[in-house]
Amino acid sequence: MNKFEQLGLNESLLKAILDLGFENPSEVQEKAIPLLLEKDTDMVALAQTGTGKTAAFGFPLIQKIDADNRNTQALVLSPTRELCLQITNELKNYSKYEKGINVVAVYGGASITEQAREIKRGAQIIVATPGRMQDMINRGLVNIKNIDYCVLDEADEMLNMGFYEDIVSILSDTPDEKSTWLFSATMPQEVARIAKQFMSEPVEITVGTKNSGSSTVSHEFYLVNARDRYEALKRLADANPDIFSVVFCRTKRDTQAIAEKLIEDGYSAAALHGDLSQAQRDGVMKSFRGRQIQMLVATDVAARGIDVDNVTHVVNYQLPDEIETYNHRSGRTGRAGKLGTSIVIVTKSELRKISSIERIIKQKFEEKTIPSGIEICEIQLLHLANKIKDTEVDHEIDNYLPAINNVLEDLSKEELIKKMVSVEFNRFIAYYKKNRDISAQSSGERRERGDSEPREFNNNGAVRYFVNIGSRDNFDWMSLKDYLKETLDLGRDDVFKVDVKEGFSFFNTDPEHTDKVMDILNNVQLEGRRINVEISKNDGGGRRDHNNRGGRRDSGRREGNFAPRREGSGGFRGDRNSSPRREGSGGGFRGERNSAPREGGFRRNEGGSDRAPRRSESFGDSPRPRRPRRD
Ligand code: ADP
Ligand code: MG
Repeated sequence: MNKFEQLGLNESLLKAILDLGFENPSEVQEKAIPLLLEKDTDMVALAQTGTGKTAAFGFPLIQKIDADNRNTQALVLSPTRELCLQITNELKNYSKYEKGINVVAVYGGASITEQAREIKRGAQIIVATPGRMQDMINRGLVNIKNIDYCVLDEADEMLNMGFYEDIVSILSDTPDEKSTWLFSATMPQEVARIAKQFMSEPVEITVGTKNSGSSTVSHEFYLVNARDRYEALKRLADANPDIFSVVFCRTKRDTQAIAEKLIEDGYSAAALHGDLSQAQRDGVMKSFRGRQIQMLVATDVAARGIDVDNVTHVVNYQLPDEIETYNHRSGRTGRAGKLGTSIVIVTKSELRKISSIERIIKQKFEEKTIPSGIEICEIQLLHLANKIKDTEVDHEIDNYLPAINNVLEDLSKEELIKKMVSVEFNRFIAYYKKNRDISAQSSGERRERGDSEPREFNNNGAVRYFVNIGSRDNFDWMSLKDYLKETLDLGRDDVFKVDVKEGFSFFNTDPEHTDKVMDILNNVQLEGRRINVEISKNDGGGRRDHNNRGGRRDSGRREGNFAPRREGSGGFRGDRNSSPRREGSGGGFRGERNSAPREGGFRRNEGGSDRAPRRSESFGDSPRPRRPRRD
C-alpha cells in the first residue's frame, strides 16, 4: 500500500497519481487530505509556494464531488488567470479516470459567453479569478448558491491584489453549509479576517514556519516592453541609490554591451565575462569587492560562486535559458543572513517563466512597477539630503569659509538649502521631467486587478504619500499597511498601494483621509524617531495636482543655471557611489573605467593597484540624466 493509499484516496485517483509520477505525498498533502476526506470541515492551510497545495485540496475535492450530478458543487478561487488555468489543468489530470467530472476555468480576458456556455453544459467544479467570477454572478451566468465546497487558493495573494471585496461578495452568494478551504503561503491580517468572517471552526494546518519566506531573498519582477529593458535597468539603479548589484545577462556580448552603456551613462559599472583575461577579471572583482563598482554586469559562468557579501540586488537583466540557473543567480544576494532582492526585468512573452521559477524557488514573486521619474527624483532628493546631513566635515575647509561665506551670506537658510540641493538635483529633474512611464501593462491576468490596469485608472483620485520609514525599520508592505491602518485608525481598504523602500515608503489613501494622515502621522514617533509624511507628487499617473513640495519645483525652475563645468565635476553620481575619500585615495574605479571601457568596462592596466589619481578629477561622474536615451 503506497502512501497515497493510506491517505484514503480512491482507485481512480491513485491511478491518476501514478500517471502524474508523484511517489509520496508532500507534507501539506499528508496533513490535509485525510482530514478533508474524512469529514466536511473548514480548513486553513498555510504552506509555502511549491509545497503541493493544489493536490492537497484537489485530490479530496475530486473524490468528494458527485460526478453523476451535473450541478456546480465546488468553486475554487485563485488570484490569476495563469494559476486558474494551471489548477484547472491539474484537476483535469487528477480526475481523468473519474468519469463525468467537468472542470471549467473562468477568468478575465476571454469570452465570458463561451465560459458561461461551458458552465451550462454542467461543471461540477469552477475554477475562477475573483474579478471574472463576480462579473458572471452579476450577469446571472452562474449559480453557486448550492455549492458544497469553496476553495480559496493563494488567499494572501488574492487579497494582496485587492480582491477582498469581490471575495466577500462571492462568498456571500454561497450557502452557509458549504465547507471552505483556505490555502495560503502567509497569514496577513486580511487573510485572518476572511477566515474569521467566513469560516466556522476551521482546522488549521501549518507546514514550515508561519509567515516567513524560507530565505532572506525577496523576488520581484518588472514588466516592460523589450525596447525599454535598458531604461528600466537605469531607473532601477536610480531608484536604489545605494545599489550594490550583480546584473546578469545571457551572453558575453550583451554583458559587455550593457556594461559599456552603463559606464557611458555615468554609472559605476563593469563587465565580467569569459573573454577577459584572468588578471582583468581579478581586477574587476577587486574593484567590486572594494565597492568602486556598484553594478557588476556578468554572465552566469563568470559570476559562478561570486561570494561578495552585502550585495543588495541581483538583477536579471535577461532571464537565463535554463530557469534552474535563476537560483544560482539570486544566491549572490541575501548572503550571511542579510536581506537581498532579486529583480527580474521581464517582457510579456517571458512572463510564464516567472511562474516556473516560482515553483523552483518555492517562493512568490512580487510584481512591481518601474518607478516613475517623479518617484526617482524623490528618492534621490532624500538620499542627497541624508548625505548632506551625514557628511563629516573636514576642517581643512575652515580656511576657505570666509571667502565662501562672503559669496553666500545674503542667502537665507531656506534659499541655501534649495540651491545646494539644486546643484545636484536639477539634472535629475530635467531628465525625468520629460520621461514617460515605461512600465508595460501587465498580462492583465497575473495581476488581474491592481497593477494590471493603467495606473491612471487605478489611482484615480487617490492621494499618494511619501513617508520616511521603510524596510530599514523592519517594515514590509503588509506590516506597514497594518501599522498605518492602526495608527491612523483607518479601515482595511483605506490604505493601498503600499510600496516599501529601504529608508522610506509610498502609500495611497483616498483624499478624504489626507488631513488625518498628515495630522496624525506627522506627530507620531517610531522608536524615538519622528515620522515625516508628505504628499507625494508622484501619484502613479493619476493626479498631478499635489505639488506642495515646493523645493523641487523651485529647483526645477532654476535648472540650467549652472556652468557645465560644474556639472561635470563631481556630480551626484560620484558621491553616491563612493565617498570623496575614496576618490582621493587613488582614483578608484572611476578613472579606470573610463580609460578603457572596451576592455570589459575596465582599464587595460591589470591588477588595479596602480591607479591614476590624476585622472579621477576629470572623470567626475557625468550625471546619467545628461545622457538620455536616443530612442
Ligand atoms: P503550491 O500550490 O503549494 O505552490 P503546487 O500544487 O503548484 O504547489 O505544486 C508544485 C509542484 O509540485 C507541481 O509541479 C506539482 O505537480 C508538484 N507536486 C505536487 N505534489 C507532489 C507530490 N506529492 N510529489 C511530487 N510532485 C508533486
Ligand atoms: Mg498553488
